[in-house]
Amino acid sequence: MISRAEVDKLLEVRAAGPSLLSLYVQVPPDPAGLRGLPAHVGELFVLAARDGPGVQAAVRVGAANARAVLELLTSRARDWLGHTVAIFACAELGLAEAIPLPCQLQERAVLAARPHVRPLLLAIQRCPAYRVVVADRRRAWLFSIEGTEVITTVLPPAEGLRGHGFSGWHGLQAHRVNERIIQLARHHYHDTAALLERAVQASGAEPVIIGGHQDTIPQLLGVLPAGLRDQFAGCFIADPHTLTPAKVRDRADRVICDWRNLRDQHMTAEFLREPPDERTVTGMSACLTAAGQHAIQLLLIPAGGLVPGYACRRCGALSSTGTSCPHGTCEATAVPDLIEELAVTTLSDGGQVEALPDPPGGIAARLRHPLRLARYTCLGTRCARSTSTDLLTPAAVPSCGTPSPASR
Ligand SMILES: [Zn+2]
Repeated sequence: MISRAEVDKLLEVRAAGPSLLSLYVQVPPDPAGLRGLPAHVGELFVLAARDGPGVQAAVRVGAANARAVLELLTSRARDWLGHTVAIFACAELGLAEAIPLPCQLQERAVLAARPHVRPLLLAIQRCPAYRVVVADRRRAWLFSIEGTEVITTVLPPAEGLRGHGFSGWHGLQAHRVNERIIQLARHHYHDTAALLERAVQASGAEPVIIGGHQDTIPQLLGVLPAGLRDQFAGCFIADPHTLTPAKVRDRADRVICDWRNLRDQHMTAEFLREPPDERTVTGMSACLTAAGQHAIQLLLIPAGGLVPGYACRRCGALSSTGTSCPHGTCEATAVPDLIEELAVTTLSDGGQVEALPDPPGGIAARLRHPLRLARYTCLGTRCARSTSTDLLTPAAVPSCGTPSPASR
């Protein structure tokens, strides 16, 4: 199961040039389909190729990287049937790593100086680890679901209800027995909620789902601590004694999917409801400017698509044209995906990135502070002075093929 920590670790990997291959490929569900996989991967490799302005030499998937990918698929594809697998390969760095993903994602192959992680972020967002608690009046089961793994824990039975037949209460009046059962059930729900809270605290913020009879779900939900209730994603009705881990997984996956869709809709609506001020921007150009000023608190990106662009080798400025910083097009190097660059910049600035099916304006951001008026937008400290109050003069800006004063 991929985690943010693993994404952060991948982001530390860096090659000297665009020689690091990130491949996201769908492994067929049927072993018979594996025969066609090498040819299919070859087609994806072609999509990673690029040349043109900002590309110093034609970028192609090298033979060593292709070989590493095919070796991984040959030896392990049978373990990944039906899954999207992320493979990162770079012969120069001795890197050949595969990560099977918990959900199916758009296929792509990208050559860049570092791993392309947008689909990994999407996988974490779309298919989070989560907990399901299934309870009746006497028993409770906790299911921890991460990727393809389901771990089942049987929680201790309610106190006083461990035996059969409630034999200790013979002779009591029927209504007193009933009251006692209700009281014990209440304790049982409290105990279950406390155990669930401990389990969730141990693993971090995860969505929580409740399953069980129609009358028991509200009772357990009613005693969830406030923190857990914020993480409540939904419920499903089922007879606990007929459930298997696979059935729990199936029912809970549907709850998570609905929860995620509602969350997406809520996030979009909330963004659109914000009053028009200087704290929200939409569109690629405005988001690039905001990233250059380390101003993005929340970045809303589309789930699919690649938007090629440029990054300045000297100051890191991102742009669609390669002309957004004082260093000019001669320092602009082509990057395969500006959305990826924006996402990584936002995360490294401590911001949040959310992929939506249809983000406002194609891409949008909520800002920490209004943007400064700037002729040039830079990410590095070298260009920190390049605001409207301190523009570099044209003479100070080197152009391609013209040695700068310092190099003469
Ligand atoms: Zn620059």
